[in-house]
Amino acid sequence: MRYDYVIVGAGIAGLYATLNIPKDKSVLLLSKDPIWECNTFYAQGGVATAVDEEDIYAHIEDTLKAGAGLCDKEAVEILSRNSILVIEDLIARGFEFDRDEEGNLLFTKEAAHSRPRILHAGGDATGRELHRFLLQNTHAKVFDGVIVIDLLIEDGICHGVTVRQGAKQFNVYANNVFLTSGGIGSLYEFHTNAKKISADIQGIAALKGLPLKDMEFTQFHPTVFVYNKRARKFLLTEALRGEGATVVDEEGRRFLFDYDPRGELAPRDIVSRAIFRHQKAGHKVYLDFAAFSEEFFKKRFPNIYRTFRNLGYAVPFDRVPISPAFHFIMGGIKTDTWGKVEGMENLYAVGEVACSGVHGANRLASNSLLEGLVFSKRAVEDSLIQDRQIRPKEFRQLPFVLTKSEDKALKERLRHIMWHKVGIIRKRGELEEALEFTQEVLEQDIGYLLKLRVLSAKAIIQAALNRKESVGAHYIEGE
Ligand SMILES: Cc1cc2nc3c(=O)[nH]c(=O)nc-3n(C[C@H](O)[C@H](O)[C@H](O)COP(=O)(O)OP(=O)(O)OC[C@H]3O[C@@H](n4cnc5c(N)ncnc54)[C@H](O)[C@@H]3O)c2cc1C
Repeated sequence: MRYDYVIVGAGIAGLYATLNIPKDKSVLLLSKDPIWECNTFYAQGGVATAVDEEDIYAHIEDTLKAGAGLCDKEAVEILSRNSILVIEDLIARGFEFDRDEEGNLLFTKEAAHSRPRILHAGGDATGRELHRFLLQNTHAKVFDGVIVIDLLIEDGICHGVTVRQGAKQFNVYANNVFLTSGGIGSLYEFHTNAKKISADIQGIAALKGLPLKDMEFTQFHPTVFVYNKRARKFLLTEALRGEGATVVDEEGRRFLFDYDPRGELAPRDIVSRAIFRHQKAGHKVYLDFAAFSEEFFKKRFPNIYRTFRNLGYAVPFDRVPISPAFHFIMGGIKTDTWGKVEGMENLYAVGEVACSGVHGANRLASNSLLEGLVFSKRAVEDSLIQDRQIRPKEFRQLPFVLTKSEDKALKERLRHIMWHKVGIIRKRGELEEALEFTQEVLEQDIGYLLKLRVLSAKAIIQAALNRKESVGAHYIEGE
């Protein structure tokens, strides 16, 4: 199998890349099963964008501020300057963002944005709408129900990938390889991510010596309903607080103001830590919707309305118990501002799997869908300029044993340790214990997929140990 492009992952980054690749190029898009099980599908709040040319400066400033001085300024400027272009492109292709009765685009506000600049679709179903639209419009050959388990790299060139489909294993070769496989949610006990997002490709990167950057910067979302049995915990979008929902304790007190004068609209890490500390002090924490009428809630947040009504909460009249949970990783495979993986010729990484530098130590809300759009387009542009024809080369099939009998228990322990020792508030001693655990597991006879998970976790822990001071989403106590 040989293609012009092979794309690993069918979220916003992978799908939007395919829309930008000319139709005369052959494109294979690979995804796990089912195809909607990705973080893009579950995105609720929306896509951040500069509202107009004048707003670009403020959007850049807000992004840099959230990133706590560790963003790549050039990447942030590219993100914001291109935001209007990609949004116009989506609209021109027929995508419908929510509008008011006069047909004007509706912008909402989220934490740490200095003005309303988040576009949404289907109320709180932006991700689902975008995913469906992009899937409907792709000309790529889509192959789901597969797992990419290896990258065929030699002398700085990625010749293709090794794919597993059930017991069948085969290599796919390409002139350009795009890694758009998303984040690392399943490494944590409590997370908001699609359940198939398990850091395989970051693990392969660690194994192959591809550069990983900013892995210690893991973002915890403050308002998550964690009391369901599913692996994926249910997120209550930031837009709820942007529109007036409040965070209260069992006495109805808005305690966040004890921690930060911005209260509910302080950056995510501050709100998450405040809730975490308040819970540790023995309090219960809720999201309160008293500011909303039922009609408004139902129209603006239809998905959340339905979900909680089904769970027995009469929202917006009932408040909902919440807790922080892992949500997003700022770090990933290091790329340049064209999405190209450092040190590689034809290998690109875009979206949550990548570290393009736009998020620094903390992501500004709703900048990640935008990152997927802007940088996938740029990666395609770069690949078209290079117009590579990689000389065909066959790679031997390696005998991978994906799982072994002890893996499940070890995987659960890893998730528990990541949540408790590599979580919202970190301590050096606990990080060292977590690192030791990963080393012990790696020395055991484990399946290959678990090995990839553990390698990704190890990269996060090592980066957290190397970062001695608290900054952005990395908070270390007792140094
Ligand atoms: C609940 C929730 C709400 C969010 N809300 C917002 C929001 O409002 N605004 C915003 O900007 N961001 C939001 N985010 C973050 C944002 O959704 C993600 O960062 C973004 O969608 C990531 O897109 P992606 O294309 O990089 O990866 P994903 O959309 O996660 O797609 C990854 C793809 O890679 C595939 N894959 C993974 N590993 C392999 C493998 N080994 N082999 C083959 N395929 C593989 C998966 O099957 C999937 O198709 C939210 C995230 C969550 C979880």
